[in-house]
This record gives sequence, structure tokens and C-alpha cells, in this order.
Amino acid sequence: MEQKQFQAESKRLLDLMINSIYTHKEIFLRELISNASDAIDKLYYHSLTDNVTGLSREDFAIDVSVDKEHRTLSIQDNGCGMTAEDLESNLGTIAKSGSLAFKQENGEQKEDIDIIGQFGVGFYSAFMVAKHVTVLSKPFGSNQAWRWESSGAEGYTIEQCEKDSHGTEIILELKEDTEGEKYDEFLDQYHIQELVKKYSDYIRYPVRMDMERSRRKEESPDDKPEYESYTENVTLNSMVPIWKKNKSELKDEDYNEFYKNKFMDYDDPARVIHSSTEGSATYNALLFIPSRAPYNYYSRDYEKGLQLYASGVLIMDKCPDLLPDCFSFVKGLVDSQDLSLNISREMLQHDRQLKLIAGRLEKKIHSELLSMLKNEREKYEAFWKNFGLQLKYGVYDGFGAKKDLLADLLLFHSSSENKLVTLEEYIGRMKESQKYIYYACGETIERINLLPQTERLRDQGFEILYLTDDVDEFAVKMMHTHQEKEFRSVSDKDLGLETEEEKEEIKKQGEENKDMLNFLKDALDGKVKEVRLTGRLKNHPVCLSSDGPLSLEMEKVLNAAPTGQKVSADRVLELNSSHAVFETMRKLYDSDKDKLKEYASLLYSQALLIEGMPVEDPVAFSNAVCNLMIQ
Ligand code: ADP
Repeated sequence: MEQKQFQAESKRLLDLMINSIYTHKEIFLRELISNASDAIDKLYYHSLTDNVTGLSREDFAIDVSVDKEHRTLSIQDNGCGMTAEDLESNLGTIAKSGSLAFKQENGEQKEDIDIIGQFGVGFYSAFMVAKHVTVLSKPFGSNQAWRWESSGAEGYTIEQCEKDSHGTEIILELKEDTEGEKYDEFLDQYHIQELVKKYSDYIRYPVRMDMERSRRKEESPDDKPEYESYTENVTLNSMVPIWKKNKSELKDEDYNEFYKNKFMDYDDPARVIHSSTEGSATYNALLFIPSRAPYNYYSRDYEKGLQLYASGVLIMDKCPDLLPDCFSFVKGLVDSQDLSLNISREMLQHDRQLKLIAGRLEKKIHSELLSMLKNEREKYEAFWKNFGLQLKYGVYDGFGAKKDLLADLLLFHSSSENKLVTLEEYIGRMKESQKYIYYACGETIERINLLPQTERLRDQGFEILYLTDDVDEFAVKMMHTHQEKEFRSVSDKDLGLETEEEKEEIKKQGEENKDMLNFLKDALDGKVKEVRLTGRLKNHPVCLSSDGPLSLEMEKVLNAAPTGQKVSADRVLELNSSHAVFETMRKLYDSDKDKLKEYASLLYSQALLIEGMPVEDPVAFSNAVCNLMIQ
């Protein structure tokens, strides 16, 4: 019979499974039972919607059996089954391409632990415990069954076979025990029973097993009891989905286990939200906030959505309409009796009930996050590290549609506190004389600390919010105000710092030096819109700012984007009239205009460097500095 090769990626994953050092090999059972349950779901769904199968819920079950003599463990379902093509494409190819991409970034030793933990590995996990795997499958409604067999990485075979009923049976021939590993334990019924309880209790179809029992023979005398053995078919799981259970019945571990198994995470969730509502919308929701962002979270691959059940039947695996983008990190499920089973994806989008539920969930997630922020600050900050960026995108997204919802969840680094603070905290500390919420942008906190634009503000003891992510200033501009306090960039023309007299003084000086300032502007040959005097600087001679809605930081961000037109902020070169350099320039204006021209360009380059922007001609800049040094 023709031996087929696994697709290259599958082969590598298989190798990993076969040689796995993973300590929780037992999870293979959970994976296979969960596949069986999914397969039944598919068929059950059809039987409900198309009414063609003639099957009802009671007809479905998953049967587990052990054969000690042949060292086999089998898991059998009466779900949808697989055709030869299905077997080929489902079991010969790895669907989760993400898992391998992830793996490559990791070291050898840790990799199988991470990969199993993060993604679950589905069917292939069988090879952690089995030396040979046989899959017998017959699709519902077909009279042809198929046998898929493999002893691991060498390949697999598919051939026709006999099978009475539709569905799939997976037979594992267990590996021999070694010193460190006891595979025999998977032949122990009590151990299997325990594992099903632990990992698969909520599976909604009965997971059954014939168990050996013993009982006292009725006729045996009391003083000399005799025992006989018998078998009893036992349902091992409680079948009540966890979200239908009472909160008081559930422990943290129950939620955590469920979350990790179902949503393929390695870590416990940061927060669990379990809510049931009745009234205009009746539903149970079980939501989780992961404690770490998935590796692909901030990429296009990431798909948001919640599992959607209609009266306990899964109708959609990732329903995006249940979550706003700003909360796309939330995992979980919603089960509602108000939804029709037959509803199509297109109709779902417009479903009034679904919208109602989505609205409720949004409020609920917001209030849970807020309570985490208020009561578990450290935890919230860890959450913020992972998902804060998404909330800030959320503020900006959709023309600020969600900005009011999100404003009280935002954190920014504070200049005076040197830690993350909320806007509420900032406003609570504002000085009486302080008009604005000040912010400064830059690549890192260290860099912003050095910005000359912040000198005067610091001097007067004003707190400044540091914006280090690309999206930050866009978000802040979208909010415009918070609690009626306006946001102001430290680079803004007017920081509201100067007294009327000071303003007058600067204006006067500006008038007096008008010719020189214009000369400097011309010398810079269109690079700046204006050269003016400023009161915001203290120890520095110069800084760059911008006029108009586009700031220099926004220019940087927009121009770094791969698509779109290049934009340019209106640059303004600001000079500190109380700095010695200014005096020098004034003198040069009378005595040596050529030199002043050179200095204009030097100052401009300096201002660019301070802003963290490239100078246009570094060689010319360096030459000019050298010239100064040898003078
Ligand atoms: P996953 O279940 O995450 O998709 P698996 O490797 O566990 O990945 O399974 C791959 C595919 O094989 C499944 O998506 C499903 O289509 C099919 N499959 C696995 N087990 C069964 C089963 N018992 N009955 C029907 N199809 C199955």
C-alpha cells in the first residue's frame, strides 16, 4: 500500500510530539475528545437546521474504551465523520500555521512546551503517547469507510475499510513504558475517568466508558462474602457547560482550566467575567481577559470574536460583531436563547438581539476593566502593557466613536510621578494656575526628559504626560479635552505660561528683531514657515515646533507608514532671546551676514536632532561644527 508523506510542517510538528518532553502528555485525551465533540456538533447542527439526519440529541455520544491486552485506547464518536479527502487534508496537513511560525522564534528545549501550551496541537498530540495511531472514519450518509494509519513521521496510509456506523474511531497503540514515563496509566479506567472529569467535564455529549466494577454476590454469607465482577457503562462527564453553572459552584481553577483548554492559552486569564442576564436580552456570557497578548495580536492575522451559541448549540466560532475593536483581546463565549439556529452570518450582522447583547458586553467589559484599575492596579498595569495600545487605537478609531467609553481606562507616563497615571489622577493634581493637560511626545521616556520644550513647565512644577507610542498623539487630539480640560502639547505655540507682561515683552522683542528673524527664515530657504522668539525655553537656545493641526510627531508617524502620501508639518524655529547665542546672532546680523546664514542652518540642524529627526545633510552639519571648532 502506498505510504504517503506528511506535509513538511506537519512532519516537524509530529517529530516534536513523538520526542516530546512535555510533562502534561495527558492532554492528548482532551484534544481527541474535543475533536469528537466538534464532529458531533457539526452533525447535530445539521440535524437541527436541515432536519435531514433524523437524529436527535440523545443519539450522540463519545465512547472511550481500553484494551489492556493489546495496550490500546480508543475514542469513538458518532459525529460527521471524514471522507478519504478529509483524512488526507485534515490529518496530513497542519492547519495551525501560526504555531510553527511561533516555534521558530523559540529555543529548542522550551519549544514543545510553548507550542503545546499556546496552541494545543489537536490530533497530533496523540503521538505523545501512542506509537501507532489508527483512525477509522465513515462520513454520515456515506456507505464507504476509511482507515488512516500512521506510526509517526515516516508517513501514513489511507485505505478503504469496513465500519458499521458513521463517525470516527481513533485507536491509540500506546508506547512502551520507560523509566521516566508510564504510558500504562492510560489503560487504567480510573485514571481515564479522572482525566475526563478534569479536562472534558463540560463536553455537552456524554463521554461514556465501560467500567469494571465488583459487587458482593447476593447469596454469599455475611461472614464469608464473595465478590463478582461486572461491567457498567458510565457517563464520565457532567455535560453541563461551565457557563450554565452557578458561579458559586465554580472555583478559579475551573474557569482557568476551561479557558486554557478552550482558547489555547498557556497562562491563566487575567480576569474572568461570568454573567447571566435576563430581560430584553437573555444570555449567559463567559468572557476572559488574557494575561498576555497572543503573539499575533497586533497583526492582521489576529481575528477577534466570541464563540456564539444559540441555546447551547455552537453556531459561530468567532463572531466579530459581539466585540468592539477596542476590546478585541477579549476571549470567550455567549450563549443566548434569543437567537435562531438558522441565522446566517449576513443576517447576524443586522440582528437586533445580537446588537443588544454586544452593547451590554461592551459596558460590562468596560466596568470590569475599570474595577481592575481601581482595585488591582498592578494587575491592570500588566494588562495595560499588553493591551493598552489597543485601547489607545480605540480612542482614535472610527473618528473617536469610543473615546468617551475608553478615556477613564487610559494610562500615561507622568513626568512628576515617574509612573503610569490616569487622566483623572492628573486632573486631580492640577495646579490652580494650570490651564491645560500638558503632554510631550517622543520615542522614549529618556528622550522626552531631555526635550528643551519642557524646561519651563517643569520649572513651574507642572506635570507632563509622556506619549511614547505612535498612536498616542492621534488619540489625545481625538479626545481634545478630558473633563473640560484641554490637552496641550509642550510644542504648542501657547502653553498658557506667560503673564501678560511677559507676552508683551516677547512680542516687543519680536518686533525689534523682525528683520533678523525674517533674514533667518529666508536663510533656511523654505524649511521653516517662521522663525520666532519664545518664552518656553530656559537653558536651550533653540527648539522646533509646528503650527497648525499636524505636529512633528504626527508627521513622523504618518511618513513612516508604508502607504499614503508624505506629509509635512508647518515647522517653526523658536529662539530663546535670553540665551547668549541670541546675542551673538544679533551682532552677526550687523557685522557678518554670511556667518549668520551658516549659524541659521546649524541651529536648525540642532533643533532637528533634539526632536529626534534626521538632519538633512549630516556631512555639511559636521563640517560646520568642525569649522567652529578650529576658529
Ligand atoms: P483542530 O481540531 O484544532 O482543527 P486537529 O489537528 O485536532 O485540529 O484536527 C484537524 C481536523 O481534523 C479538524 O479540524 C477536523 O476537521 C478533523 N477531525 C479531527 N478529529 C475528528 C473527528 N473525530 N471527527 C471528524 N473530524 C475530525
